[in-house]
Amino acid sequence: MKFDTIIIGGGLAGLACGIRLAQNNQRCAIVSSGQSSLCFFSGSFDLLGHTSEDKPVYDLLESLSILANKDKKHPYSKIGVSKIEKLLEQSYALLNNLDIKMKGDVRKNHFRLTPMGTTRPTWLSVDTLATSPSADKLPWRTLAVCNLQGFTDFPHQIFAEQLASLGVKVNTHSIKVRFLDSIRQNATEMRSASIARLLEKTENLEELAKALNLIAKDNDAILLPAALYSADGKAFGKLKNMVLGTELFLLPTMPPSVVGLEIESSLITEFKAHGGVFFAGDSVLKGEIQSGKVQCVYTANHGDIPMVADNYVLATGSFFNKGLIATNTSIYEPIFDCDVEFLPNRGDWYSKDLFTKQNYFGFGVKTTSSFKALSGGNPVDNLYAIGSVLSDFNPVEEGSGAGVALLTALNVANHLLDK
Ligand SMILES: Cc1cc2nc3c(=O)[nH]c(=O)nc-3n(C[C@H](O)[C@H](O)[C@H](O)COP(=O)(O)OP(=O)(O)OC[C@H]3O[C@@H](n4cnc5c(N)ncnc54)[C@H](O)[C@@H]3O)c2cc1C
Repeated sequence: MKFDTIIIGGGLAGLACGIRLAQNNQRCAIVSSGQSSLCFFSGSFDLLGHTSEDKPVYDLLESLSILANKDKKHPYSKIGVSKIEKLLEQSYALLNNLDIKMKGDVRKNHFRLTPMGTTRPTWLSVDTLATSPSADKLPWRTLAVCNLQGFTDFPHQIFAEQLASLGVKVNTHSIKVRFLDSIRQNATEMRSASIARLLEKTENLEELAKALNLIAKDNDAILLPAALYSADGKAFGKLKNMVLGTELFLLPTMPPSVVGLEIESSLITEFKAHGGVFFAGDSVLKGEIQSGKVQCVYTANHGDIPMVADNYVLATGSFFNKGLIATNTSIYEPIFDCDVEFLPNRGDWYSKDLFTKQNYFGFGVKTTSSFKALSGGNPVDNLYAIGSVLSDFNPVEEGSGAGVALLTALNVANHLLDK
């Protein structure tokens, strides 16, 4: 099997890179073991939320310049601020091309509401999510936070208490709808994905709308668990048209994220629509490097039949999806044994205080400034690394997860197209 480019990993980074290559007529394959971090996604794409601990970022280009001057090894610094502006536009266009409507300004952050009732800076959000232009003020005076009776993956009481501290009058409601009776008895069934499926039926939407209409007139907006998003948000769009006199918005729930699953499935559909080949449920086990170049990769499903390409892109994610593996004494990259940046003393890898900086988030594959992966101290000529497998950024502390995935993906794709 011969391709122009083989991408290993079908998360946000791998799919964004694959779409750009396939759109430009590359014969491109993605091999992906399983679901990605998108299954846990909030529905908001973080580009850069913080450059220092207590100051949220508003103006993105200004803050990206500060970061690039301060930290020369950061993936954004490797791309360079002058190129980032173009990549922001390309990322925005790629996301807006999906069947999912987005909101947000290419150059400015807005704030999304977290399930804990706090605000968090972010770049682009799915347009049904509850967001605000500022960190400490909400655009509503009276809110209803509604859960569905029996749904335990949405802590609506905690959320409401925290929101009240932002000066909003908050009412909580737990709504009982008959269409959930069949799954309510079973805690493993009463999950966001099952609820989303039941909302595909118009009569179920109508029952929910009837209950919401009873509380609509007393509130500027009603906030609901994002389990109510389904089929590209179309069910939620219909629900909004049925509830009169108020606005409806969604809040992220505990995983699985229905919004994230929809984004993942739209990205895969887009990749395939441009002729990309997606090997779902297959894992790359080994890559062969000779004379400074990857010659081929072997996968679990294809056994000893090699997969061959001119270029290879490593988009296997971080520890979470086994793109990086930690032992007691070291950290390694399992497919090509690429060079990995990590601290030598295990005691420095993490802090027992969960809410402080965790150094291990910054560990990852070392690359050149054009994201060529290093092995044995040398760049591998046709192997690139993108997304959360990369070193030298901290997605949690900075709020940069999706941004690094998208921007490094498109930067490498553009480089391959120019090559
Ligand atoms: C739980 C969680 C929630 C997050 N939520 C947000 C959020 O709300 N907003 C935000 O901006 N960022 C969020 N992030 C940050 C997130 O890391 C990035 O946004 C981005 O999605 C990372 O994409 P990726 O493609 O680099 O990696 P991943 O999403 O980890 O994808 C890697 C893919 O590679 C596959 N893979 C691994 N090894 C192999 C192999 N050997 N062969 C084939 N395939 C393989 C995996 O199965 C997976 O599909 C979150 C991260 C986590 C872990």
